[in-house]
Amino acid sequence: MKKNEEEINEIKFLDLKKINNQYQIAIQQKIEQIFDKGWYLQGDENKAFEETFSEYCGTKYAIGVANGLDALDLIIKAYGFASNDEIIVPANTYIASVLAISANGCKPVLVEPDINTYNIDTKLIEKAITPKTKAIMVVHLYGQAVDMSDVWQLAEKYNLKIIEDSAQAHGAIYKGRRVGNLGDASGFSFYPGKNLGCLGDGGAITTNDKDLYLKVKALANYGSNQKYVNLYKGENSRLDEIQAAVLNVKLPHLDNDNKKRRSIANYYINNITNPLIILPKSSVEEMHVWHLFVIRTKNREHLQNYLLEYGIQTLIHYPIPIHKQVAYKEWNELSLPITEKIHREVLSLPISPVMTDEEIKKVVQVINEYR
Ligand SMILES: *Cc1c(COP(=O)(O)O)cnc(C)c1O
Repeated sequence: MKKNEEEINEIKFLDLKKINNQYQIAIQQKIEQIFDKGWYLQGDENKAFEETFSEYCGTKYAIGVANGLDALDLIIKAYGFASNDEIIVPANTYIASVLAISANGCKPVLVEPDINTYNIDTKLIEKAITPKTKAIMVVHLYGQAVDMSDVWQLAEKYNLKIIEDSAQAHGAIYKGRRVGNLGDASGFSFYPGKNLGCLGDGGAITTNDKDLYLKVKALANYGSNQKYVNLYKGENSRLDEIQAAVLNVKLPHLDNDNKKRRSIANYYINNITNPLIILPKSSVEEMHVWHLFVIRTKNREHLQNYLLEYGIQTLIHYPIPIHKQVAYKEWNELSLPITEKIHREVLSLPISPVMTDEEIKKVVQVINEYR
């Protein structure tokens, strides 16, 4: 394929407009109803979403909150973890996982990922446990559920809570159970680009723990379960009616969207044959919902520019490891070679439920011609 031969059709990394325009009429009808009711927070839409989302995840409870970072932060706060408490977290994650721990004054203990799954290396967790450890936060990164069996064992053995960061893995299934139902409590994000996204910020917590449910519910609402009666020094973190309505329209389509992502991922895995590219290892089908399709290559910037010349947008998840960020100066001297290697080599290819067959084929063809 020659690059300037014909008009270059841009292949967007993620065409959010195309995704959401599929639901435009249904969402507009919902918003009309909200105008008619004149009720904007903690109403029918949020209640309906909490019910259907907990049902979807298989948990007893779900609580809508303002965003994914708040979801994780509120879980930690509700458990009462604070200064001197340690929480184990993968070094290879989006920074929000770690920020939620820091925000509560706890110490995040970074554990290296597995180079094949990019998720936390569960064999390294036990070494990181100390008498101060209170919880293990697992992150189902790029859409792939963490292999939980070791985590379950360790949590039992050392009496630790398991907190899931499910912000990238809505709908993924591990051993018959959905993410969000694999630990004690889970945080979800509905940031527009996630597999289930709203038209702004949104998040949720899922759990089977009634005490945690009641505490989070209050903490997210100024520490109050009853108007003007405050039990805790809470926050204001709520899912508003418009965002909940958007999610109520989109949730029934999530499984189909994930199926489409899976078929694109399989097509990439079966057809990208360029030896310069390391493909993600395919796992048990349902464990992965392919929020991102992440390849590795030695000369990443070169490949990224080459793809852009052919109109193919890519992104890097993520370019700077958390322990090398200015925000975490105290860790800048740490050496985490696997995390650093991943950050140097990863590149995310376009993957989304609205990609056309033509676009998918073009990505494969252009990558296979890369030298
Ligand atoms: C997006 C994301 C979050 C944060 O969600 P927000 O809604 O943006 O606050 C947390 N963890 C991971 C792994 C994420 O990808």
